Amino acid sequence: MSGVVVTGGASGIGLACAEVLVAEGRQVCLWDLQPSVMEAAEKLGVPGRQVNVTDDAAVAGAVEAAAAACDGIDGLVHAAGVVRVEALGMLTADVWDAVVDVNLRAYPLLAQAMLAHLRAAQDAAIVGISSIEGLVGNAAIPAYCASKAGLLGVTRSMAHQLGPEGIRVNAVCPGFIETPMLAGALQGPAGRESYEKAAPLGRLGQPIEIAHAVAFLLSPKASFITGTHLVVDGGNISVNH
Ligand code: NAD
Repeated sequence: MSGVVVTGGASGIGLACAEVLVAEGRQVCLWDLQPSVMEAAEKLGVPGRQVNVTDDAAVAGAVEAAAAACDGIDGLVHAAGVVRVEALGMLTADVWDAVVDVNLRAYPLLAQAMLAHLRAAQDAAIVGISSIEGLVGNAAIPAYCASKAGLLGVTRSMAHQLGPEGIRVNAVCPGFIETPMLAGALQGPAGRESYEKAAPLGRLGQPIEIAHAVAFLLSPKASFITGTHLVVDGGNISVNH
């Protein structure tokens, strides 16, 4: 069996995805911008690489290294992501580009860079991490919302193109998940409790709860599922919108 490339694998949801996939017996290649990705990969016993997903040349090299280390590539999880709080009135082009480049632009280019390997694999599948913010919006983070809504559009586009080749493409839309990305917001004026209460289940989600959804969508159990998204949010938008 070949391997699944997980971006954003040093932390939070990406790391949990790698942990679940490894526990299921899948081979994983762990990528992240942070040097700590090497330590995380070593702990999991998988190949790691410090790579900026917006650097197309670096991605090309990393794809070949991953394919060599894992005997091919049969999956991609794009969990690398950034958020910047800048509502209209403060929004800059630089912030827009920084957020959209990582969360959205990188995603189809990553898939394209590894397409030959995905085509050569049996039952390849791709999962992008979107967000409930891409479905319902959030005034404070327009670039983030656009990137996450755009990820759903590109999911459907890639599913159209790659479906006839047996490659499935889906997205997961997490609600509020307890990771370093959310840490600042939890300490902000709204307070942790407001994020917990947003979900009928009355708590934050844990990264592993997103990872299980991702692992399902990558697995043969999801063999007739493509071009769609799975909301994993404790009922937050499902009940309230
Ligand atoms: P996190 O900050 O713990 O992890 C994100 C990882 O992406 C970090 O390790 C970071 O170094 C990496 N990264 C950022 N830019 C990169 C780049 N250019 N190249 C390679 N790696 C890069 O946050 P998380 O919550 O685990 O986020 C994972 C994904 O889940 C993100 O796409 C995020 O938008 C999404 N998400 C998170 C939540 C939440 O509540 N935490 C909710 C919805 C969606």
